[in-house]
Parts: sequence; C-alpha cells; structure tokens
Amino acid sequence: MKQVYMETFGCQMNVADTDRMELLLFQSGYLRTAHVEDADLVLVNTCSIREKAEQKVFSLFGGLKPLKQANPDLILGVAGCLAQQEQSALMARMPYLDFIIGPDAVESIQHIVHRIHQGEGPVVWTEFDARKNYSIPEQPLVKDSGPSAFVNIIKGCDKFCSFCVVPYTRGREKSREAGEIYAEIRQWVDHGAKEIILLGQNVNAYGKRGLDHPVAFHELLYGIAEIEGVERLRFTTSHPMDFTRELIQAYCDIDILMNHLHLPVQSGSNRILELMRRSHTIEWYLDLIAQLKSEVPDIALSTDVIVGFPGETRQEFEDTLKLMEQVGFNNSYMFAYSPRPNTPALDMVDDIPHEEKQERLQETIQLQNRLTEENGRAFLGREVEVLIENVTSRKGMSFKGRNPHYWSVVFKGGEDCLKPGDVTRVRVEEISGHVLRGSWAGQ
Ligand code: SF4
Repeated sequence: MKQVYMETFGCQMNVADTDRMELLLFQSGYLRTAHVEDADLVLVNTCSIREKAEQKVFSLFGGLKPLKQANPDLILGVAGCLAQQEQSALMARMPYLDFIIGPDAVESIQHIVHRIHQGEGPVVWTEFDARKNYSIPEQPLVKDSGPSAFVNIIKGCDKFCSFCVVPYTRGREKSREAGEIYAEIRQWVDHGAKEIILLGQNVNAYGKRGLDHPVAFHELLYGIAEIEGVERLRFTTSHPMDFTRELIQAYCDIDILMNHLHLPVQSGSNRILELMRRSHTIEWYLDLIAQLKSEVPDIALSTDVIVGFPGETRQEFEDTLKLMEQVGFNNSYMFAYSPRPNTPALDMVDDIPHEEKQERLQETIQLQNRLTEENGRAFLGREVEVLIENVTSRKGMSFKGRNPHYWSVVFKGGEDCLKPGDVTRVRVEEISGHVLRGSWAGQ
C-alpha cells in the first residue's frame, strides 16, 4: 500500500475531517504513517482561526519542500480553513503544492488524489458544497478509535460574528439528516465506542432549516439516547442564542447526556459583545446560565474568551474577568484577538498594543487557573465515574479517562481487570492543573 502522512491543526471538526479523509484514502490504497519521510502523500488539514495557527502551517511546509525536491512524485496537499481562505494564493506562495482543498471537499479527496495521479494537478477545489450529507462507507468507519467517537452533525455557521472566519471558510449551516447521524453512531458503537461527541461549529443550530426530515437539536439528542450501546453523549460547540428551553429539559431527561456544557461568551462587556455581533447581552447570558443551573445544579461550564478586541478598554476587560468569576467556569479557551482576513472586525482599528493583549491574556489565564482549582477541589475525597480512554504509565498511574464533567482523570490500580472503554469509579486524591488524580475505587 502507499502511505499517507496526515497532520491536523485547529478544532475537533478538523480532527474529524482528517479521520474521514484517512478512511477514504485507505479505500484508495493509502495507509496512514507516522513518519513523513516514508510518505507518498502528505496532507495537512489547516486552521485559520488565529494567526498563530497559520504560521505553524507555513513553517511545516517550509520543512516539506526539500522532501518534494528530492522526490517529485511525493504529493503535497493542503486542506481545511486556511486552504479555503487563501485558495490559489497559497499555490503562489508554495508552488510545489499538488492540491488545495477547502473543508467542503473532504468527501472528494479520493477523486482529487486520483486526478493528481492522472497528471491533472495542481488542483484547487474550494467551492462550497450545498449537499448536507456525508457518505457512510460500507467498510468500517474507524480504525482503533478508542471509546470516544466524534460525529459531525452540522457544517458551517450563519452567525457571522465580526471576528470569525468560519462562515467564510466553512460556508453556511448545513445540518445532516438525522437518520444518517443515527446510522453513523450505530457503526461507531459496533466498533467499540461508548461515548459520542456531536460536533459542529454551532451545534445547537442543528435542524433549523434545510432538512428533508426536520428534527430539532434536542429531538436529535433524545433519538441518540435510544441507540443501544451509547453510554455517554456530549456536544460542542454551542451558541447561546440557539440554546433552547427544550435543551435544558434534555439535560434533565437524558441520563447519558453528560453534565458539561461549553458555551462561548467571548466578552463580559455588552459594548464589545455588540461589536462582536454576538446578538445577546451579558444579562441575557447570565439569565440563561441561571436557568440551566437551577434545572441542572451539577452542570460544569466552560467557555471561550477573547481579550484585546478592538477598542476594549481596561474596564471592559475587567468586566470579562468579573463575568468569568461570576459563572465560575471550569475551563476557558482564552485568546488574544488577532485580525482575520475577510471578517468585519478587520475594518476596526486593532488598537490594543500586542504587549497589552498579552498581559490581559495572562491575567485571564491566571484567573481561570484559580477557578479551575476551586472547581477541582470540590472533587477531592469524592468518588467519580470515569470512562477509561487510555492506559498510562506516567508518574505511577495506570489509566487515563474523563469524568462526566469532562475533567481529565488519571488513576492508579485496576491493572488486572480494567481496560480502555470501561466505566469505573475513582477516588480523587489530588488536583494537578486541569487533571484529577486518584486511585481506583473498585467497580
Ligand atoms: S457562532 Fe462561532 S463559528 Fe459562528 S461566526 Fe460566531 S464564533 Fe464563528
């Protein structure tokens, strides 16, 4: 078989897209290798949400150029959001590339590689695909995927937040037919998955339009809960404006829906939220959190935060810290603002100096570390249920997994009778950053 080396930058959607391309390429006679020097095809799935992610891609390809010069038959391809954003400009910058494909071309990877083999390269394929379906191959969907499986349920986004490239790189929302999602989940379960994580840029906009058989997001969750063998269910990422009352009820009704929610807020200032075009206020967000906590008191919350957005004053930044403290997030994905091509915020003056942005980011990280530790302390001395993901031998531990609140848990004991995929109980003895450490508490 030929060999393909694949590398992924960015979000879980990209990871899932890479997995899908790996499967499709396997059907075309390519086996994935971990060694780039052995590869016949190198495929890099890129991200353009931050400037830093782009720089990493360019530096990776700088290292690949000599390989291509030494072996002109080596196929080099770029997929994902940077490919979609830059299109032919990438080819001008890296003329040794064989193909450039956007996120909507994932399903066409076999065809594209075939064209290269036929001498039709280079290929640039960045049209948006209005189809909402994914192929479900008859061959197993998975290699050894581990106990958690990611399942795409919606592509694209219609929200057009002013800082975000996603609507331009992934196109408008396209929900996938529920029947096809259920079929894919059954396949994952047949291959050993215990936990299903539903993916989408804006997952709770699922089903709003365009489905042949309309199903709302909460109805999809109830449908998945009926599938035998699914022991845990999660979803990411959600937009506050699409968070419905029915979804809160689903947390109460569906036992396998884990008590964790990632709900990006981005800023604690109403003025900045308006500039970001987030369509809600802080009061509205806090009210939603209050409703959720009153129905699901045990829910663990995480969020996304951007600091240093154009015009953000010191006071507005402190409002973000205040909000984070008020909600008590378990975790946050925190970023310093960087202007992205094609986005409306590009027209705003990026007036916060780099050093100031970095200082604000550090303050935010410090606050989140404290909040994480405070939340973690609540688990000390308690038993938590853990889905084992991996074996580990680091620092005297035996296994690694996650509890329902999406904390990483490492623990010792149970080597003789436990294996990845098992759900077991662990007594928490220590917190180390975002990780709970403890000992097996028996079945
Ligand atoms: S909702 Fe999320 S993906 Fe959509 S535009 Fe806003 S930040 Fe981007």
